[in-house]
Amino acid sequence: MKRIAVFPGSFDPFTLGHESIVRRALDLFDEVIVAVGKNSTKANMFSIEQRSAWIEEVFKVEHRVKVEWYEGLTIAYCKSKNARYILRGLRTSADFGFERGIAQVNKAMDTSIETIFILALPEHSAISSTIIRDIIKNGGNVAQFVPIAVNFK
Ligand code: ADP
Repeated sequence: MKRIAVFPGSFDPFTLGHESIVRRALDLFDEVIVAVGKNSTKANMFSIEQRSAWIEEVFKVEHRVKVEWYEGLTIAYCKSKNARYILRGLRTSADFGFERGIAQVNKAMDTSIETIFILALPEHSAISSTIIRDIIKNGGNVAQFVPIAVNFK
């Protein structure tokens, strides 16, 4: 059976940290679906179309990476895609505390789905979409933190 992992997130915007997690996950899985969350309660800086288009551009020659939108429960979305793995990145112990709760509750709801964590590379540990958005709002240059395909011009 094909090993499919879903990498869910807001990706507002997609960063070098996110890219690294997806590329490293390709060693473990046959296919990685980057699932861009349509979260109506979260005020996003970039539209879901824009966020997805950037990610598609980053992986345009990597056919094992798919980019999709989703809403609702991540485990329900995984089921609909025949994905048995949820992929998440960990930067800090704060990430771990938050992610542990979600992963344990997801496991309780559906024992067939496993959450797999990949540690951020040290050079990506400080990169977050929130910080990137703040820099952009204040007119700074974020080129060193995002893939080349993610350009704000
Ligand atoms: P969410 O709103 O679900 O937290 P994000 O887009 O912020 O969505 O993050 C998606 C996933 O990527 C999360 O698992 C997060 O921990 C991980 N992540 C975010 N930034 C980095 C980074 N710099 N390095 C590695 N993983 C990261």
